[in-house]
Amino acid sequence: MQKRPLATNNVPLETRIYQAGAVLAAATRVVCLTGAGVSAESGIATFRDAKSGFWAKFNPEQLASQAGFAADGGLVWRWYMERLRAVEQAQPNLGHLALAQLARRIADFTLVTQNVDDLHERAGHDHVLHLHGHLHRFRCNLCNDEHRLEMHERNQSEPPRCARCGDRVRPDVVWFGEMMPSRIWDAAWRATQRCQVMLVVGTSAVVYPASQLPLAAAQQGATVIDINPECTPISEMAAFFLQGASGQILPRLMAAVDQATGIA
Ligand code: NAD
Ligand code: ZN
Repeated sequence: MQKRPLATNNVPLETRIYQAGAVLAAATRVVCLTGAGVSAESGIATFRDAKSGFWAKFNPEQLASQAGFAADGGLVWRWYMERLRAVEQAQPNLGHLALAQLARRIADFTLVTQNVDDLHERAGHDHVLHLHGHLHRFRCNLCNDEHRLEMHERNQSEPPRCARCGDRVRPDVVWFGEMMPSRIWDAAWRATQRCQVMLVVGTSAVVYPASQLPLAAAQQGATVIDINPECTPISEMAAFFLQGASGQILPRLMAAVDQATGIA
């Protein structure tokens, strides 16, 4: 595993942001991997935050699973409906907006997210690889038929029924123990293999296999830039660890890209 060059440990944050901005400005192939942290400043709880709120008594790892759905489908449904409402009421933050700006600047930019919200799209990205699915899409738990959510179904205490086979409807998200859609994963992997820079934002990098993408990028020689208020396994191996909230760091990084490309 690539270790962060010692010199960068002593360089002030502002200087590192400008150095990282220059690396990004020179790149034509960039992959960005985001996690729940990028949406934290929009008021969407990360799984870690969720453990301190009302849902603290329920374990997301248990709720977001086929076993949890089988044990208490109503509880799972109500949990997802509450998360959906929270996302609908939220707005993209300065971090989402800066990333959308960066994407327009780089010839080959691939955005890969572990998030199930649509805040990247609402910030202006037209193509996002959602590794873990979408909170606002639904399908049958048995026959996989797509289900269009009706207004009244949002307030139901039990999951709606599939119009085709009568089984229960579930959110189109990837639960613990389930496979990611291979088409999405393959596209993320291919982009990782050819990128010059891997920008990692707001992920604790513990959920496999998404956590493998930054490692694979570093192994094929890409520069890894990590943005997170806390140190993670990715920060430790990144060429640039820009410590802080993404809503604050990403606009500064974007300004550094502008400066390096001569756009004032
Ligand atoms: P996580 O909850 O494990 O980690 C969140 C990370 O974000 C932490 O490392 C934390 O230090 C960092 N963070 C907190 N505030 C931040 C900020 N302002 N700016 C930047 N970083 C910040 O989330 P994860 O790594 O994405 O992985 C766990 C799973 O959580 C994923 O599978 C994802 O599907 C799921 N999840 C998604 C959402 C969403 O769609 N918004 C919300 C909750 C959980
Ligand atoms: Zn069905």
